[in-house]
Amino acid sequence: MIKLPSPIRISAVDVKMSLVKGIKEDLELLGDYKEDQGSYTIRVDASIPPILLLDTLIHEISHAIIDIYHINLKGEVEEEQLVLQLGSAWAQIYRDSPELLDYMRGLV
Ligand SMILES: [Zn+2]
Repeated sequence: MIKLPSPIRISAVDVKMSLVKGIKEDLELLGDYKEDQGSYTIRVDASIPPILLLDTLIHEISHAIIDIYHINLKGEVEEEQLVLQLGSAWAQIYRDSPELLDYMRGLV
């Protein structure tokens, strides 16, 4: 498995990213995003298959974007629903149209 790039910059914030063993077993999560006293972290379970890793990365980065950009949603349930669907949808789009990812990479 290729090491995750870390940190990634979201707005003016550096978010540390790491693959961690055992999140799935300990917390029954595939990943998490946390802000704690100005320290921002995303952790993703190291044992999940690549397409699920992609989905989870987009999911957790979406949580970070909502937090860091202060996007005002109507509560936890709506945010979780939104990021669940964004993660699954973007992972499916990248899987089925990898040329789009190459094209987008060429734009930055
Ligand atoms: Zn979530």
